[in-house]
Order: sequence, then C-alpha cells, then structure tokens
Amino acid sequence: MGRMRRLVTSSSFSLQCFWFLLCAAASTVFVAHGLAASSGTRLPSPMTAKTADHLPLAKKAMEYFDASPDPFHAVQTSIDLLESAGFEELADGVSYKGKVVPGGKYYFTRNKSTLVAFAVGNKVVTNSDGGDDGDTGFGFKVIGGHTDSPNLKVKPRSKRGTTGVKAGSRQIGVECYGGGLWHTWFDRDLGISGRVLVRCNDDSTSSIQQRLVKLDRAILRVPNLAIHLQTAKDREAFKVNKEDHLSPILAMEAKKSLTGAAVSNLDEKEDDESDEDEDEDDDSDADESNSENETAVEEDGWTEYQEPLLLQLLSEELGVDTSDIADFELNLFDIQKANLGGAFSEFVHSARLDNLASCFLAVQALVEHVNDGCLDDDEDISMIVLYDHEEVGSTSAVGAASPIMGEAVRRISAAIHSDSNSNEDTLDATLRKSFVLSVDQAHAVHPNYAAKHEISHQPKMNEGMVIKRNSNQRYATTAVTGFLIREIAKRAGLPPVQEFIVRQDCGCGSTIGPLISSATGIRAIDMGCPQLSMHSIRETMGVCDLTNGLALFKAFLQHFREVDSAVEQ
Ligand SMILES: [Zn+2]
Repeated sequence: MGRMRRLVTSSSFSLQCFWFLLCAAASTVFVAHGLAASSGTRLPSPMTAKTADHLPLAKKAMEYFDASPDPFHAVQTSIDLLESAGFEELADGVSYKGKVVPGGKYYFTRNKSTLVAFAVGNKVVTNSDGGDDGDTGFGFKVIGGHTDSPNLKVKPRSKRGTTGVKAGSRQIGVECYGGGLWHTWFDRDLGISGRVLVRCNDDSTSSIQQRLVKLDRAILRVPNLAIHLQTAKDREAFKVNKEDHLSPILAMEAKKSLTGAAVSNLDEKEDDESDEDEDEDDDSDADESNSENETAVEEDGWTEYQEPLLLQLLSEELGVDTSDIADFELNLFDIQKANLGGAFSEFVHSARLDNLASCFLAVQALVEHVNDGCLDDDEDISMIVLYDHEEVGSTSAVGAASPIMGEAVRRISAAIHSDSNSNEDTLDATLRKSFVLSVDQAHAVHPNYAAKHEISHQPKMNEGMVIKRNSNQRYATTAVTGFLIREIAKRAGLPPVQEFIVRQDCGCGSTIGPLISSATGIRAIDMGCPQLSMHSIRETMGVCDLTNGLALFKAFLQHFREVDSAVEQ
C-alpha cells in the first residue's frame, strides 16, 4: 500500500534554490513597497511567482509523508524507494561475508520499524593492512533520522472497560506516545494504521505473519466539548487529561440500525452505560458477551479484551478472519493529506514532518548518490539509519541508543575486508574516519512568539538547514563538525546554514546525535530543516528547505572525504 514510484533526480537543485530565494525576496520587496506606496503598482502574481521548480520534490516528499503514517509504513515506503534503485535486503542472522562487496547496495530492518541502508563505494580499500601509508581504508558517511512521531497508540486491550461502550458511544482505548501537542488531536478526522500479527494456517503448518494495515478514512474522532458546556474558567484553563479526554469514538451504539447483523461480535445484551465512572462496569455482561463471540477459536484470551468492531474492520481490510488476528501495534493518524500552502506555495503542511522530512531526504539523497554514479569514485560507505523510538528516548533494541550502528559498522567492515587481518585496530580506524549527520527537524522562529528564540539564533523557514548546538551536549555538534558541514554547503554552492541554540531560560530538546556518538565514538553533527508547530498533529515547513536539505545531504555524501581530510582533527 502506498507504494512510491522511483524518484527522479533534480540535478540543478542548488540553482533552483537560489532562484526561489531571489524570487521570494523580490516578492517580499514588491509587497512591502506596494503597500507603503499605495501607488497601484501591480504585485507579482502569486501564481507566476510560484515556486514551480521546487514543487516536484515537495510533491514527492508529500507522497512519502502520506504513505507513512507510522514507523512500519515509513520503513516500507523507504524500502520501496531503495529497491527501485537496486538495493537488496540483507537477511538478519546470516553472515555478511561474501555478500557485501564494493559497488553493492543493501538494506536491513530491525523490528520492521528501524531501517539501515548503505551503498559501498567502488574505491573502498578492501585490504585491512592498508597501503604504504597504513591507511586502513574507509569510513562510514551516515545520515541518521527517526521514523516515529508523537501519536495516539491503541492500548494492548483496545476495548474500553468491559463493554466498550460509554454514554452510547463505542470507543477504543489509546495511549499517548511521545510528547504530542495533544489538544491538536481534537476534532480531526482520524484513521488507524500499523502492523497486525496474523495467524496463517497453510496445510499442516501454522505461522504468524506481520501485515501492514492502513485504514485511511475517518473512522475515529476525539471530539471537543461544546463551548456551551464549559465555564469561562474551564476554557481558559483548557487542559487535556490524557486518560479521560483523548479516547476516540469509533461508533455509536445504535448498532442495529447502523450495522445490522454484520457485526457479529457486538453483544446485543450490552448496557448503554451513561454513568461517569467506568470502574462501575458490570463484569457479568462481558462474560455473557464473550461466550457468544469468536473467542472460542483463539487460545490465549487476547481477543476477549479487544474492541470487536475494531477487529472486524481490521479483518475486512486484511481479508482474514477476526480469529486469525493474533496481536497488533496500531496508531491513529490524521487522514488529511499533506498540502502545499502560502501565497507562493512556499510551505508544506503535513503531519509527521518531524521527522519524516529528514527520513525522506536521507533516502532520496542515498538513492540519488547511487543513481548519479557517485559510487565510482567513492572511497567510503554511504549509509542511512532511520531509527524508531526517538520520541520516547531511543533506549530500546531498535532506537538510537541500541547497538545497531556499531554492529552494522563492525559487520560490514569485516565483510568488506578481504583478508583475515581485520581486527579491533582496523575497526577503530574505520570509526575515526566516520561521521554522522544526525538530522531532525529544527524550530523556526515563530512570528507570534519570536521572543521564545534566542536573539541571535532565529532560523527561518525557506532559508536553509539549521545546525543545532548545545554546550551541555544535548546536541552532538562541535566547532569541527559544524565547520565541516558549513564548508560542504559552501562548496556545493548552497546558501549558508543557519544556527540554533536554545534560550538559557528554556529547556533544550535533544535527539539521536549524542546517543550515537556516545555509543560508538563516531563524530556527529545535529542539524535539520526549520519548521513550525513541532509535535502538532499538523506541522509546517518550507519547500525550499527540502530542496536545500537534499542538496546538502548529497554534497555530504559526495564531498565529505575531501573536506574532512583537510581539517585537523
Ligand atoms: Zn524529531
């Protein structure tokens, strides 16, 4: 589902970017002048000044965002792009020896929610003894991002209480994942997506398969409370209780007229609960209900705690029996598609820009690096690592604090070295030659809250990538790693990068850079595209920053070695 076609290279992106900047600047001048002079001077038409050259890339990015409502889909959407560029899957649990060779392109996943892809330069030194100068060979040029975003996840027991019904509404239980701006989830049209474990009984064998599911229609809603039912004080103090107020409504309990006999699992005897306290649910109802539904065919009692209507929707979407659904990891998402916005179409409005924008650009940069023939002169390994679980601290088997990166570097290095001399020393030399571009969205200055930004560090949308720094190491950037990227941007003819530091009276966020660096010792920089509304259900970024970000990532993969070797470490 949501398969993406191969993306086309835009070779003149840096020129386009400058063109847009000039165009936008000119437009701004015209607008300001026109308003002040009131001379009747015709303003440039937004349609003719439209950022036409940026739109193909922006539209591909928007397709990627829409196709990736959860980490599992983000990984699959990325794999589709990589496979169309010739990347092959490496099986887990099997040695890489003999499988990874110069010029090769590979990927593997963990938990199907974290993705590692890499392309081996044709000029990597495969002899770990090194040449006359003792050069042990290659390094890893890594672009890292994260596939997850704050959202509402379906609880392990999706049925609310024992009947699933409150005040005549059938709801499902949800849990807050990460630090979302939860008030933005009210009154949105919500779909549901993720992975479902399905029992497969073929002939004499039985197995469990993982299936992606995406119910891309407004089956759920978290309604606001009407203004008339709130006091002025309530409105002023509007606070979301994450347990009580965010449970979405799946259906009304007028089931006969709405669903007829089709919903076999819904219990005819359920009471329409109207009391405020769900703890008063009557267990006897549920017991009777369960005796009539399909739980008889499943063995571990899991189904009995699931909302039957949800199981039915999933089974219809997947074409399996409800009794074959063994488990799931599902989250809600806003079904509104990504849109271009602004008078000049200079914005992308979408869910999950943090951090699908970085994931898209990383995949695209790697694909274009390969398709442009850059592997021919490449002495290193170009890699992208898109982690799950960044929004909840990254400490999991598949997060940025996991051994994934170190393990990948070790295994790939051992596979490439043709001799048996590959050892700890060689590996350490490889790590020292490596570099991580940790990419996560950055905070653009907000015109209505400009004072929230430090006075000299106010990144703006459509003015280029942002380097993030924090001397307390919430970000991994150092003077050297920051300079390297500025120099690469300069050599690629890109606009200067912007800088961000948080105000001293404000807490600083963090991301995957410090975690990867501290776990592997690899140098890193934290940077990203500027955006507004971070962690809202719908965020905003500039179209030019997509173009600019892609150009910078490609330049990083192409020029890192030459720039790095000229800078004292
Ligand atoms: Zn992020």
